[in-house]
Amino acid sequence: MASEKISPGMQQYLDIKQDYPDAFLLFRMGDFYELFYDDAVKAAQILEISLTSRNKNAENPIPMAGVPYHSAQQYIDVLVELGHKVAIAEQMEDPKQAVGVVKREVVQVITPGTAVDSTRPDTSNNFLVAVDRAGEAFGLAYMDLSTGEFYATNLSDFATVRSEMLNLKAKEIVIGFELTEEEEEILTKQMNLLLSYEHDSRQDVQLIGLGFSTLEVSAAEKLLQYVHRTQKRELSHLQKLVHYEIKDYLQMTYATKSSLDLLENARTSKKHGSLFWLLDETKTAMGTRLLRTWIDRPLVSLEAIAERQEVIQTFLNQFFERADLTDSLKGVYDIERLASRVSFGKANPKDLIQLGHTLARVPHIKAILESFESPALVTLIDQLDTLPELELLIRSAIDPEAPATITDGNIIRTGFDEQLDTYRQVMREGTTWIAEIEANERQASGINNLKIDYNKKDGYYFHVTNSQLANVPDHFFRKATLKNSERYGTAELAKIEGQMLEAREESSNLEYSIFMRVREKVESYIDRIQALAKGLATVDVLQSLAVVAETNHYVRPTFVSDGHLAIVNGRHAVVEKVMGAQVYIPNSISFEEGQSIQLITGPNMSGKSTYMRQLALTAIMAQMGSYVPAESCELPLFDAIYTRIGAADDLISGQSTFMVEMMEANQAIKRATDQSLILFDELGRGTATYDGMALAQSIIEYIHDKVGAKTLFATHYHELTELSTKLTSLVNLHVSTLEKDGQVTFLHKIAPGPADKSYGIHVAKIAGLPEDLLSRADHILQGLEAHAAQVSVVDKGVQPVQSTIEESASHQLSLFAEEVTSPVLDKLTKLDPMNMTPMEAMSALFELKKML
Ligand code: ATP
Repeated sequence: MASEKISPGMQQYLDIKQDYPDAFLLFRMGDFYELFYDDAVKAAQILEISLTSRNKNAENPIPMAGVPYHSAQQYIDVLVELGHKVAIAEQMEDPKQAVGVVKREVVQVITPGTAVDSTRPDTSNNFLVAVDRAGEAFGLAYMDLSTGEFYATNLSDFATVRSEMLNLKAKEIVIGFELTEEEEEILTKQMNLLLSYEHDSRQDVQLIGLGFSTLEVSAAEKLLQYVHRTQKRELSHLQKLVHYEIKDYLQMTYATKSSLDLLENARTSKKHGSLFWLLDETKTAMGTRLLRTWIDRPLVSLEAIAERQEVIQTFLNQFFERADLTDSLKGVYDIERLASRVSFGKANPKDLIQLGHTLARVPHIKAILESFESPALVTLIDQLDTLPELELLIRSAIDPEAPATITDGNIIRTGFDEQLDTYRQVMREGTTWIAEIEANERQASGINNLKIDYNKKDGYYFHVTNSQLANVPDHFFRKATLKNSERYGTAELAKIEGQMLEAREESSNLEYSIFMRVREKVESYIDRIQALAKGLATVDVLQSLAVVAETNHYVRPTFVSDGHLAIVNGRHAVVEKVMGAQVYIPNSISFEEGQSIQLITGPNMSGKSTYMRQLALTAIMAQMGSYVPAESCELPLFDAIYTRIGAADDLISGQSTFMVEMMEANQAIKRATDQSLILFDELGRGTATYDGMALAQSIIEYIHDKVGAKTLFATHYHELTELSTKLTSLVNLHVSTLEKDGQVTFLHKIAPGPADKSYGIHVAKIAGLPEDLLSRADHILQGLEAHAAQVSVVDKGVQPVQSTIEESASHQLSLFAEEVTSPVLDKLTKLDPMNMTPMEAMSALFELKKML
């Protein structure tokens, strides 16, 4: 087969593609971006666009697919959101003037971590993370290219790096070192991250100042190099690198944040039902993003928390001013993202108008803040830079009705540039002159339907229908002939046309260049715009927290240092909001000084988890600086929250439910300090009863003796409640129930002491299990309880808890000692009700009944 000749255009494509093997190459051809070969086949499938081919008649036609230039962004978004990279090759010269193949170059590579132009409005950050390693130490740097924020930290092991990536919700990681196969597998397969290797560095003393560790610097420099290599431009909106430490914030793993439904509801993956949903009364996109960060990173500095509380208090004290303030934020646009669009050279006239509107509101917002006359607001007021000269420039230069395009004119306001005004006058007067010429010629020639028209090809012309051709004056010259009419020009018309066309062309060129000048001027203010954006976002979040506190009757928490905790009539903020304050039953939570563990027993569905989460959410809200749902609240400043809640298999990472449970328990007991909060919800349930109970007890003992963290431990293992007799810092609590005339009501009220019953059958009834199954279960339960009572009589005299579990094991074994020969009992002995789902329990009961 003769090798096919490749056209120069395709050769150019192949040359460029060679440098971007891992990206979809969008190759600009006129009004389209074309994709070829494999890119075309894959893109056609993903984007649902038609797959055609170039050189259809050749032996091996080249697969081809294309998207229109003006709607390309939505296609790029889809590819990038799915984790792909997209390289954009533009025409670098006017095709009309090009000799041979039009010069093309890749002007930008858009990747999941660098996407800033998304057509979807976004109120969350998109962080690109870079990691570098030396031995077992890691440097991690991250940046949001759409806002310019840039941070770095040092981390001591790969697990922490992984957890930080999860926390940042990174989609793409820039890797500056060789990963082991296992690490690569974790990052790509389990965490679904796009890895981009970068071995070069880009130094920048303006951005990366002094005082960073070598590893932080090398991660940050590789990040900068990658950004530069993909974006291919100097970016003026990148902010100075900021160092942070994980311990500067209340520490929580990703699993903890997710099981506490902080940013989204873990079950639905939606905002509704999360703490973010509850607290979000922000009015600006910048405020919404900042609120997410505050929820994600509560503080550990009393001073910083108090500063936020003071502002909220001020806002609550003065309702009318606060309502004004909330209102005034409504016209504030996302100037943080706008600043980055300026830096990317993508800001259009509409963007500048939005910036201008926002700047125009700042003095008003400042005035409202000043009207509070509160020292708590001084720092905030100072942060709001009014930039009057920039506001004036935009207001006087940009037409409020300007379009989003920058090449078609109508951007610049009349009165801003003399030359532009002259051109516009020519265009205006030209129109009047043309009308005059039309009227004069119509009268002189006697052609009553004579009129002047315009089109791009023929310019201005007299339109004469065939029936009137005999009346055409001699000074008319023919411009074009159509089927039913002719087009004529005159010297006079040509002169005016010349002037008008020149004015039109010159004026759009001039408007373009004036717009560019204004944009450059805006660019020189980027630092100040970004600082203003931060100030506005902070005001917005604080007013949001004040509004939420007011609406839901929250109180200002007090932090104490003697280790006690006292929340009077506290509520779970989100559950209360969802079910309504009238229905929700408040619960007080208190830890006396020196008390560390609360062991909570009670029926299923009675509110144990809600009670535990209530404490965690209250602590998180308090450390964000927010008010909290309670009548009064005193609590210590926590350094970390660890949880083991829920029982989700982590199949992707190859971990069973129980393994995850144990790993989370391990993390908690190893990392927690006496300043931490631990929530364990039914720990040990994922294995056989004795194993589970044994582990649960030894974990409680370990925390009690060696960790000292405040711990809430909910369990169905009633045997554990006896631990209170030997562990001095442990107290028993239970959720109360009301049993009357065979009806059980869960009161959702926490009370001292252990629970007496578990009411599992009652919950099964609520769940709708068949009546005969339930009565059978009741019967079996009575049998078991009778045996237990006998054993306990026999055992009387034996002193409690040498070892709770050992005792309980012997109790249970002796239950079946007499009738061990019965096949039904034999099967029953083998069942592990604590570790069965309701469905399994049901089918086991059916089978038992059948056997009987
Ligand atoms: P299980 O042991 O089965 O996990 P649980 O004891 O942990 O149950 P929760 O999940 O906390 O129970 O609560 C079950 C339901 O009870 C909640 O979904 C809520 O509807 C209701 N509930 C819990 N606490 C309260 C409360 N304080 N006031 C009103 N309703 C509550």
